[in-house]
Amino acid sequence: MEHLKKTDPAVYKAIRDEIIRQQNGLELIASENFTSRAVMEAQGSVMTNKYSEGYPKKRWYNGCEYMDVVESLAIERAKELFHAEYANVQPHSGSQANMAAYFALLQPGEKIMAMSLDHGGHLTHGHKINFSGRLFQIVSYGVSKETEMLDYDEMEDMAMRERPRMILAGASAYPRIIDFQRLKEIADKIEASFVVDMAHIAGLVAAGLHPNPCDSCDIVTTTTHKTLRGPRGGLILAKGKYEKDINMQVFPGIQGGPLMHVIAAKAVALGEALTDEFRSYQKRIIDNAKALACELEKQGLRIVSGGTDNHLMLVDLQPINMTGKDAANLLYKADITVNKNLIPFDPQSPFVTSGIRIGTPAVTTRGMGREEMVLIAQFIYRALKSGGEESRINEVKDDVHELCRKFPLYEGI
Ligand code: PLP
Repeated sequence: MEHLKKTDPAVYKAIRDEIIRQQNGLELIASENFTSRAVMEAQGSVMTNKYSEGYPKKRWYNGCEYMDVVESLAIERAKELFHAEYANVQPHSGSQANMAAYFALLQPGEKIMAMSLDHGGHLTHGHKINFSGRLFQIVSYGVSKETEMLDYDEMEDMAMRERPRMILAGASAYPRIIDFQRLKEIADKIEASFVVDMAHIAGLVAAGLHPNPCDSCDIVTTTTHKTLRGPRGGLILAKGKYEKDINMQVFPGIQGGPLMHVIAAKAVALGEALTDEFRSYQKRIIDNAKALACELEKQGLRIVSGGTDNHLMLVDLQPINMTGKDAANLLYKADITVNKNLIPFDPQSPFVTSGIRIGTPAVTTRGMGREEMVLIAQFIYRALKSGGEESRINEVKDDVHELCRKFPLYEGI
């Protein structure tokens, strides 16, 4: 980064510091990951300099021939990876992918049935301060109090009663497999559209380790930067018949020029996701999540719903009389990054919470496995039990640094 160093030492320093932070800490935020150097090279390239409004071979400006190459590669790879008839790789983010999907299927004011944020949904699934809650009528479903898992019979009752125009599945904090086939049957009964936001689990779906919503859905949206391990961005997949509507909604509907450097990086990441190495990486993410959940339980922490089928778990801190906010802050002092998270039926506010969400995609990318999950569970427990005592936190921090040194992230950067 010698040019950056000379031109803008302040930004250069922030990036150097962030490299060190990522290298030295345990990244357990379930929605984060480390992309490959190839993805970062594509994203940090001259593709950022070009306007290419429109779609491959149908651009508004001249000079887009190489933009067409990368966008077509990204589209074809996305279709192959998810067995989809159509892909749009232009959404700048998961939120914009969702906006375009809703706009393609619904008129403002129509009703969406989606998972409540309090039980693991996402802001774009109808929160009142988000565009989704402001523009559409929302009815929210949650998990069952007994099992802390989705109750499909209850969802069917709600759908029959409320008759939404669209059923939306997918979550930000749900540790279990989602039965898309069953939800499709419910949607069909009331002639509603069925949309899945698979942002969190896209990598698992790509690897065949979670049912593929593209088999049953009208539209599937995702981010590209979570388990999928690409650059930050969005992606829409759908049946071929939606091509025209979705393309129109993304551009010119809600976006201007596509971020071609990000699309180039998406193409690289989607290519990586088609490899056997990626499939075995996704399997290790799940194995690690199961191992970590089991070890945390052994340390006396309660895992919501009793475990995990995917890349994340929710830890209920009520048994140790701690809030999610305090726990996340304490862990961060030991360079362990997690986020506070509501658990189902949480008595605390979203700003405090009774839980933390923990995910294994990023530590698995570093090469950590079962043995390291046992250590991480111990680090978490020791930090939470330190009572905030500085010397005890620092001991955990030293152990975290030692472990991270064994799994280098950015050699040579
Ligand atoms: N959908 C789900 C399920 C998510 O978890 C997220 C982000 O966390 C999004 C959508 C939004 O993605 P973005 O942050 O790229 O807008």
